[in-house]
Amino acid sequence: MQQTLTAKLKLEVTQEQKEQLRVISLAYRDALNYTSGVASEMGKTYNGTKIQKEVYYTLREQFKLSSQMACNVPRQVGATYKSLRTKLKQNEEAIKAGRTKKRYKGLDKPPKYVSRTCTLNYQRDYSFVKDQKVSVITLNGRLKVNYHGYSKHLEMIKSGVAKIGAAKLWYLRATKTYYLLVSMEVEVPELTPTDINRVMGVDVGQRYIAVAADTRNKTQFFSGKQVRHKAVLSGSLAVKVDAHYTSQACPCCGHTSKENRPQKGLTFVCQPCGYTLHADLVGARNVALRVLLSRQDWESTGRFSAVPDASSDETKGERLSRYLQLRWTTDAIPN
Ligand SMILES: [Zn+2]
Repeated sequence: MQQTLTAKLKLEVTQEQKEQLRVISLAYRDALNYTSGVASEMGKTYNGTKIQKEVYYTLREQFKLSSQMACNVPRQVGATYKSLRTKLKQNEEAIKAGRTKKRYKGLDKPPKYVSRTCTLNYQRDYSFVKDQKVSVITLNGRLKVNYHGYSKHLEMIKSGVAKIGAAKLWYLRATKTYYLLVSMEVEVPELTPTDINRVMGVDVGQRYIAVAADTRNKTQFFSGKQVRHKAVLSGSLAVKVDAHYTSQACPCCGHTSKENRPQKGLTFVCQPCGYTLHADLVGARNVALRVLLSRQDWESTGRFSAVPDASSDETKGERLSRYLQLRWTTDAIPN
């Protein structure tokens, strides 16, 4: 089974190189905004090829982009329009069905790209070269720079086990550093429900850390961003479940209310039954229960049902009402 990972590589650049990265990422962003305006005038089309025909020479000559980038920009703009059009359509249906009165305005004006970013194609706009350096295109020749990252990712890049794809040049304002976000595909073993002997819910809620609770009542704290990575690298499975009300629902009696978080504090106190626990742990337990439920569905139907991305409001409602039936009692779990 193929899994996609993103390796975050910190680039070690001199002041002069930094300036070159600034110039190219701003040119790319400006090209996106220019192209977004053109696509809007073309009847808000999401057809990347059509948009490309219209803007290609301008992107090459005026924005000085490489030919590869002059293709990436219209493709990216097309993808943006496509997803916004889907939202618009869903909104129109919701209005028709009386579920909302609010009109979606995301396409009234050409979508604007704000952050300084740039998409780079592997082996055209960037490549890995000797001495652990990466070569990155700029408007003014190529840069060869050192990079740092998570050791497992660096190993994967070096050994060639990962299939390397496009990357994003990304600027972190807070530290004024540039990163290269490299997408990679790795082969991981195919899993069946019986392979997974530990079910863990992770609640990445309002706070900075992720709290994981497994069904044996062990709790672990993780840095939030590493969770999915860890799951992929260790051959286990990360399942997305709805996080609605996870830190307001009582794992013991099911009562779900804001009141269960007195003074919006970190302690959960169930108003009807008195169940008291740290709110992060309540969230993690609820997520663990939801993961278990999706595993049960997986075993009985052979497919996942709890994928929150691709479903209508109705099935989400059904799913949430099933979640209300879930209970966490440690008495019933053998040690
Ligand atoms: Zn309760």
